[in-house]
Amino acid sequence: MNKNRILLALFSAALITPVLAQQLPRLMPEDMFKRNIGTPEQLDKQFPPHHIIDNIYYIGTQSLGSFLITTSAGHILVNTDYERTVPTLKKSVEQLGFKFEDIKLIIGSHEHADHMEGDALAKQLSGAKVVVVAEQVPGLKAMKPGGKEHPMDEIVHDGDKVTLGDETLIAHLTPGHTDGCTSWELTVKEGGKDYKVVIIGSLGVNPNYQLYNNPANPKIVEQYRSSYATLRALAVDVPLGSHPAMYRMMEKYPLIGKNPNPFIDHAGYLYEIALNEQAMNLRLEEQRLAAEKKAK
Ligand SMILES: [Zn+2]
Repeated sequence: MNKNRILLALFSAALITPVLAQQLPRLMPEDMFKRNIGTPEQLDKQFPPHHIIDNIYYIGTQSLGSFLITTSAGHILVNTDYERTVPTLKKSVEQLGFKFEDIKLIIGSHEHADHMEGDALAKQLSGAKVVVVAEQVPGLKAMKPGGKEHPMDEIVHDGDKVTLGDETLIAHLTPGHTDGCTSWELTVKEGGKDYKVVIIGSLGVNPNYQLYNNPANPKIVEQYRSSYATLRALAVDVPLGSHPAMYRMMEKYPLIGKNPNPFIDHAGYLYEIALNEQAMNLRLEEQRLAAEKKAK
């Protein structure tokens, strides 16, 4: 090998290194869970409410993603979180200059207390209609903060449209994390261009989930895989999620006001799906190997 070829080889190696560095970090379900939930303080602590894009605003805490979508006929609230979070959401709505009583419609990411427990209180305070997805119903029936029945004013299904005034959202069932886990799609405008927004329901595998040979839910792996496919097919420009770490809100927040809008992040969306898929596959393989070892 002459000197030039050695230099070329070294140069190529230097080029390859950053590509390898971009491989997915090996995050297990526990790592993803911790990343999403943060500390107990972060679950409750208000994050500065802010404008995301067009008619969408962030009103959640440091680790619970809640969104206000304004329309010509009042507002849509996505995720009421824990019942104890509702006063924080109300404060955020008011700090943005809106009224909590103008919320006319409430929808949620999935039937876990950290996203939908506050529905009854939020409805009480606003008079809004609570729209739930059919597969969320069994979980929501069991969710009774202070003994309150979970309000369910209308039940919709996968692919259904939910409209308030001039805004329409589409419900995409993305199960696995729960049976009723739903990702909500809408299209917004900025600078005369259309952008597709999706509020990811969740792709998380909780640390206690049984993926391999789960008699209570034999289809759980199939559910997760169908959800990755559903979300990938959506070609999303602006990913949002039931936990703001799903779209790296903390990194994007300081860039608000810059051009382009930091929340426009198709690559980040695909990266998040890939991270979740990898964590699910790592756990599945781990459980399969453990089961084989036990059978020997
Ligand atoms: Zn959950």
